[in-house]
Amino acid sequence: MNNTVPQVLAADGLARARRIFHAARAVVSDIDGVLLVSGRATAGAQEMLQRRRCAFVSNNSTHTARTLARVFAETGLSAGEEDFFLAGETAVDVIARKFAQARVLALASGDVLALARERLCLVDERALPETVDVVLVCRDETLTFSKLERAANALRCGAAPVLANPDLTHPAALGRVHLETGALWRMLEVFRKPASNPVVIGKPAAALVLEAARHLAMAPHELVFLGDNLQTDARAAQAAGMPFIHVGGDGFDLLDLLGH
Ligand SMILES: [Mg+2]
Repeated sequence: MNNTVPQVLAADGLARARRIFHAARAVVSDIDGVLLVSGRATAGAQEMLQRRRCAFVSNNSTHTARTLARVFAETGLSAGEEDFFLAGETAVDVIARKFAQARVLALASGDVLALARERLCLVDERALPETVDVVLVCRDETLTFSKLERAANALRCGAAPVLANPDLTHPAALGRVHLETGALWRMLEVFRKPASNPVVIGKPAAALVLEAARHLAMAPHELVFLGDNLQTDARAAQAAGMPFIHVGGDGFDLLDLLGH
């Protein structure tokens, strides 16, 4: 944990936030709640992406970089797919690199499931729980009771859990919430063997933030992280040694930061 990097909240005043924002060589930004809200670009997002070098870090475990770059384009935001660092996609990558040849039971859907099918050796519903090496837990929008039960049995038999992110929810319209990966994990974690702690990919772990800094070829302290969630974004930035500015919700407005 690095306690020396600044963390700027709304109460600290706009002048300080602007100073740190403009001093940073590039921006690492969370996506939901900062650049997109309910699938629409926030005020100032387009301008920031045009004016500043940016990379994007998200606990998203349903999209891949390719499809999220397309979502950005549809909302008027322009970004290359190489600039995205996403929890679900990275979880698949970590399993491919660290658990080579593992037989994987995937709680995943959409693009991340398609990617897992491409890159991993996935077991089907006939597989015995003893034969599963890894349980991948992403935001599975096609979750069924039997799939959940298969995952519970595999964990009871000692399969290693890999969790895309620990979030219980992410924001939905009208002040409601979408269920997130961590909510699925809450149901499953009681079944894991005591020694098999989950590998957790997303924020508040620093891994994705550090990956973004490496991609930008800059030191974390030269960058600034913009996030709307103090529990995940601020903690991940601090763990990575990157200055943090609270944006969206109770934090600063992007347009104000840009100097409007
Ligand atoms: Mg967010």
